[in-house]
Amino acid sequence: MEQIVTLLHEINSDPEKIILLEHHINEYLSQHNSDQHHHNLGYCNKIKRFRIAGKTPAETFHHLEHYYWVLCRRTASVKRMMDDARKQMESQCNHVWERDWEDRDERSRYVCKFCNKGR
Ligand SMILES: [Zn+2]
Repeated sequence: MEQIVTLLHEINSDPEKIILLEHHINEYLSQHNSDQHHHNLGYCNKIKRFRIAGKTPAETFHHLEHYYWVLCRRTASVKRMMDDARKQMESQCNHVWERDWEDRDERSRYVCKFCNKGR
């Protein structure tokens, strides 16, 4: 905490001090179970920063490969959450069906003008 307060006084838009301040703040919050508290209140996990500058090509590749798979898992998780939210939104909607003029299928199709659900 002392490091954070000291940096707050010295920061003056110095990029290295800003980065160091963020590092110390994250470390401080981590010691106080910030991720768990956020999770308990319904926040998603944060994606940690990593640095590729100054790394060998192999190290860069492995960092990027790891980051890529983290993002793939995160994207799949967000998609599941989005699908669940859509189902909940559609189940609570008082649908008003309108003809879907953009649908070129032979069968007529309708969509709800409020939630965009099809039927
Ligand atoms: Zn609807």
